[in-house]
Amino acid sequence: MGIKVAKFGGSSLCDAEHFRKVKAIIESDPDYHYVVPSAPGKRFDDDEKITDLLYQCHRKVERGQSHEELFRKISDRYLEIAEALGLDFDIEGLLIDTSNAIRQYKNPDFAASRGEYLNGILLSKYLGWDFIDAKDVVKFDRQGSFASEWTNEIMADALKLHKKAVIPGFYGAYPNGDVHTFSRGGSDISGAIVARAAQADLYVNWTDVSGFLMADPRIVKNPKCIRELSYRELRELSYMGATVLHEDAIFPVHRAGIPTNIRNTNAPEDPGTMIVTHPSADRDRDQIITGIAGHKNFTLLSIEKAMMNAELGFGRRVLQALEDFGVSFEHLPTGIDTMSVVIADKELVTRKDQIIQRIQQTCQPDSIDISAGIALIATVGHGMTSAPGTAARLFTALYEAGVNIRMIDQGSSELNIIVGINIEDFETAMNAIYRAFVKD
Ligand code: ASP
Repeated sequence: MGIKVAKFGGSSLCDAEHFRKVKAIIESDPDYHYVVPSAPGKRFDDDEKITDLLYQCHRKVERGQSHEELFRKISDRYLEIAEALGLDFDIEGLLIDTSNAIRQYKNPDFAASRGEYLNGILLSKYLGWDFIDAKDVVKFDRQGSFASEWTNEIMADALKLHKKAVIPGFYGAYPNGDVHTFSRGGSDISGAIVARAAQADLYVNWTDVSGFLMADPRIVKNPKCIRELSYRELRELSYMGATVLHEDAIFPVHRAGIPTNIRNTNAPEDPGTMIVTHPSADRDRDQIITGIAGHKNFTLLSIEKAMMNAELGFGRRVLQALEDFGVSFEHLPTGIDTMSVVIADKELVTRKDQIIQRIQQTCQPDSIDISAGIALIATVGHGMTSAPGTAARLFTALYEAGVNIRMIDQGSSELNIIVGINIEDFETAMNAIYRAFVKD
């Protein structure tokens, strides 16, 4: 017997039929003790997410307009679910109170959080479990930064009092009790926080896909699902744009050594992706890479100066120029007399000329070359370190596909190889790398 914490995303709780699926999943395994729900998501492509409607309600209130008609849409969704499930409690009263409260709050977070709050109450009634309001157990400091240790203490104490409970995701409270939310998609973080405080054996993140895919399916056709992924690999892939889980949901469980299992509510028999601290010994040996992810819109700043390597403080002065203008960089590949800095375009928008000028002044380089329109692709996998010829395979694949490589960076973790290429080659390069390493 162990303890499992389940988080269900918005699409997994979008209507009564999905609530039924969720109940069947929870009741099929007595190890589930705590459930963290999102707000109801889209039921079909053009549908609206409850959270989006709630933000709209707040905007109306802010402009001094009535939000009642809009809130009706929200009420109807919850009433429909409650009625179809035969839930017998004063949901009408709860919805009226919620609507009135939204009118009184100045910050949008309170309104936004009500999607999870209401869904949490509904789900707790439906499962017959206790309800714990996240504002009492998830804490932020006065600046709005998540207070992890404080939260862990009070959450752990609260969980001890409830054998089975529902804790809504996405929000918590400032020290003064005012509601504050994580960024969008933040219920993943709440689930991880509950798993850590419960000292769970497993955090199961139920969503609408059967796990993490090896590449973006919009670019690579039918990519395989990743069976096992380490938290470090996940970090590399999500940093590069792969999305399934909120980035900040990694830290609480990784630190506590709790694995995360991504599962599909609509296909509960699929094993999904298991995210673990250390890669297991029986990983498929033929599968050298774990995944590929990429991002567009970077600028490559290439700085050249003869005898740069012997000049004390050169690198620091280049980076100081960026820091002085509040610009952060992504990568820093260096050569003997060259140094390149990769920067996201959005960071540079208004400050490019000033930064160049500052580097000219403080570093006096022989040349500075600026190339915009760069895309980065990270090929990630623990297996890459022990397999000779991985880099050769990757670069050969790009060469054969006619892709010109503008930059190479092998992270010191040896967990990834990042290549910079021209944006136009992005799709071709992703497919070439995928095909070079993954056999159907
Ligand atoms: N409901 C929130 C959102 O739409 C949080 C979440 O679903 O995780 O972003």
